[in-house]
Amino acid sequence: MREEVVIGLEVHIQLMTNAKMFCHCSTDYIGKEPNTNTCPVCLGLPGSLPVLNKKVLEFALKTALALNCKINPLNIFHRKNYFYPDLPKAYQISQYDIPLGVNGDMEISLPENQEKRKIGITRVHLEEDAGKLVHEGDITSSSYSLVDYNRCGIPLAEIVTEPDFSSPEEARIFLMKLRSIVQHLGVCDGNMEEGSMRCDANVSIRDTKTGTLGIKTEVKNMNSFRAVKKALQFEVDRQKKLLSEGEKVIQETRHWDESKNITVSMRSKEEAHDYRYFPEPDLLPLQVDLKMIEETRKNLPELPEERKNRFIKDYQIPEYDAEILTSSKALGDYYEKTTSLYSNSKILSNWIMGELIRYLNEDKVEVEDSPISPDNLVEMLKLIDKGVISSKMAKEVFEKMFKTAKGASQIVKESGIIQITDENELIEIVDRVINENPKSIEDFNQGKEKALHYLVGQVMRYTDCRAKPDFVFNALKQRIKK
Ligand code: ADP
Ligand code: ZN
Ligand code: MG
Repeated sequence: MREEVVIGLEVHIQLMTNAKMFCHCSTDYIGKEPNTNTCPVCLGLPGSLPVLNKKVLEFALKTALALNCKINPLNIFHRKNYFYPDLPKAYQISQYDIPLGVNGDMEISLPENQEKRKIGITRVHLEEDAGKLVHEGDITSSSYSLVDYNRCGIPLAEIVTEPDFSSPEEARIFLMKLRSIVQHLGVCDGNMEEGSMRCDANVSIRDTKTGTLGIKTEVKNMNSFRAVKKALQFEVDRQKKLLSEGEKVIQETRHWDESKNITVSMRSKEEAHDYRYFPEPDLLPLQVDLKMIEETRKNLPELPEERKNRFIKDYQIPEYDAEILTSSKALGDYYEKTTSLYSNSKILSNWIMGELIRYLNEDKVEVEDSPISPDNLVEMLKLIDKGVISSKMAKEVFEKMFKTAKGASQIVKESGIIQITDENELIEIVDRVINENPKSIEDFNQGKEKALHYLVGQVMRYTDCRAKPDFVFNALKQRIKK
């Protein structure tokens, strides 16, 4: 059977309003004493009534418009009924048959060949978050769960895609871009580790001959971009293996176990919920003003795609660079801060995409918290330009800057990493290396260019990499030729 991977995503983003969705409680609940960030409305106490926070609508509207959705001006909230200990009302206020936004799309570019791919956005709807269960003790008779309602009523937008992805990597690229979009909109910080962006992924295998979609499973509990990719790959492999053995995939929800790198069955769809959706009687139908829709559309801020194109045009950098530099709002801001201080925008891009991102990833530090500020990076590049340090020495300076958060000049002063600018001193070393390596000179004279690089390396060794490489290269070449 010729098979094709089919993936669709359901993503929840936490909207960064100050107040919760239907009450005045703060959305700043992380780290708060359990159950202190609540009120009768978000606890669902009898007699309390929800009132929609206008900011929630504004933020969700921005999101739907940025994803090219058609907006339904008339919105009716529904009750989605199910019992769960972290859901005190035993229903969640959500949207059902008429979501805020429908039929959108987002373009992603695949890095191998810069191929563009349009991903369909089925819907964007509003819903409130539930509380959290905290499990205590080990899995023995003494284990128990506590419930914390602080998160109840936090506003969410749910974004559902069409089953348009054909690999786990495509799904990851989409999520990265979605995160960058919501960050640029200022509606969500996109932090998957902290749960302000959460993703459920649906996976199936299609027989390309018949073209019909296969049975899907839904994978939950991935809290990083890497986890999404790993979990999806595991699930794809698992399903392919089942099918190749003549078995069937069963429709179920599976849980990604990060510690074991596997998905495990949580519940099968046979016991599928009947949510008994019905219109929320405590909220009026929401008529979104057409003027508000148009104003919001007109005032959308610059989004990653436009920003990327501006970077390519204004800073003359390759699309590949621009794609990475706009992959998060903060990274784009960092880059633009440096370009305002230094004119060679490609050198900046190289250092940021190379060293900076590598060190940030290694230490799991966000670019906002980078120990090397844009000013510090530029200060270092200016030291290279002045010939105080070589590009190679700069790598060492950079590392020290990252580890200590000190400025470049200070590092250079303290550690004596300084380029040898005295040319006579360098010529002396060059001559010494020439005398010590007659074999390489012979090789070079027989046309082996590589021998010259070896000699440059020897000079660097003698000088602890403090020599100017191009000066050494030219001096060697001249003297050997004589
Ligand atoms: P459900 O009713 O089970 O929630 P939906 O039709 O609402 O299913 O789709 C939920 C998500 O699953 C969407 O993101 C959709 O793109 C995706 N999806 C639907 N069918 C498939 C399939 N056969 N394979 C992979 N993903 C799918
Ligand atoms: Zn409240
Ligand atoms: Mg669904």
